[in-house]
Amino acid sequence: MNAAPDTAASPVVAPELEAAGPAPRRLTVPVRVGGVLVGGGAPVVVQSMTNTDTADVDATVRQVAALARGGSEIVRVTVDRAESAAALPHIKEKLLAMGLDTPIVGDFHYNGHILLAEHPACAQALDKYRINPGNVGFGQKRDRHFTTIVEIAIKHGKPVRIGANWGSLDDELLTRLMDENAALARPADARAVTREALIRSALISAALAEEIGLPREKIILSAKVSAVQDLITVYSELARRADYALHLGLTEAGMGSKGIVASTAAMGILLQQGIGDTIRVSLTPEPGGDRTREVTVAQEMLQTMGLRTFVPLVAACPGCGRTTSTTFQELAFEVQDYIRTRMPEWKRHYPGVETLNVAVMGCIVNGPGESKHADIGISLPGTGEFPTAPVYIDGKKAMTLRGPSLREDFKKIVEDYVERRFGIARQGAAE
Ligand code: SF4
Repeated sequence: MNAAPDTAASPVVAPELEAAGPAPRRLTVPVRVGGVLVGGGAPVVVQSMTNTDTADVDATVRQVAALARGGSEIVRVTVDRAESAAALPHIKEKLLAMGLDTPIVGDFHYNGHILLAEHPACAQALDKYRINPGNVGFGQKRDRHFTTIVEIAIKHGKPVRIGANWGSLDDELLTRLMDENAALARPADARAVTREALIRSALISAALAEEIGLPREKIILSAKVSAVQDLITVYSELARRADYALHLGLTEAGMGSKGIVASTAAMGILLQQGIGDTIRVSLTPEPGGDRTREVTVAQEMLQTMGLRTFVPLVAACPGCGRTTSTTFQELAFEVQDYIRTRMPEWKRHYPGVETLNVAVMGCIVNGPGESKHADIGISLPGTGEFPTAPVYIDGKKAMTLRGPSLREDFKKIVEDYVERRFGIARQGAAE
């Protein structure tokens, strides 16, 4: 007979399980972008990009404001021509007048050296410049243009993101690496060489920027690609070779769920390893769609990974054959919407409210159990169950709701709980 396992001697939690969780933030050199710290162990920063014509001051201000209020901590805008550069100081001024000091990054391609030199007010208004080493110029001109931009950044004390991109890779560098590879006895495949060119493009440009005099704490690197495995390989390698702060994002991630899944799959793996100091989820919005969606997805990714906390999230069961009613789904959406709507005010009055957990469950199978794990949970009745909904607060059954006012009653319970718990936290902090 086999001896029974000695469960009494086993630790309750195996040490390797206790150690699970995201890797500590990679210690890069912190970069100050306006009032936001990127890297150096600072929390991962969420950023986004406008799709307005930057020359249209009012439209751009409206969209930057919406993105900032939606949670974007840095916003990038296109600066493609003189009119856009001239608009920048006015955009910044209007945002500041609205009480929004969200750092604004100018995205330059081809003519950044001219626009920044001819529009010093734009160079000063921007909080960071983003340049793509593949789109700065060719041959000697590339180095001259790059130098001009970096010197302007040094003069104005601005950081620079050197953002290489798979779709606009430095042709000369790629051709040289392809030729060198072809001459090898066992050449690597073309994809591996292209990845290497992308990594080197970013690193060589960063080294050049430092040579010109831009301090390391003013440099952020990115090397964006559109395929998940490429992104993981390229950023793992970038992080291994240098300690610059890294901006992470899957370029051209795509539309809807495909874009969300691809971005979170790629970035999740890297963030778990502590790679990535600022992120953007590049979703293609539907025509007329909500641009702030990319900010919500980025926040939810960081929050569900346990890296940051932005807004209370509602846990809801997926539903199954044990409930044919749509009430719990509607209630889950309604409560999440209610929380998002209330957050601007809650954040002002109730510090720590973003850590609130709410659960909305569909039947007795997992409903009471999951509800007890949340700060507030409601377990709605499944098919054939008694038509009442027990509510659990801090793990204990607190009341039972029923009837047509159930939704409003539950939201009131959430509101009261927030005031009671986080209002007390605020008073405590003030004492
Ligand atoms: S809680 Fe009930 S309704 Fe929801 S998924 Fe589980 S068994 Fe189905």
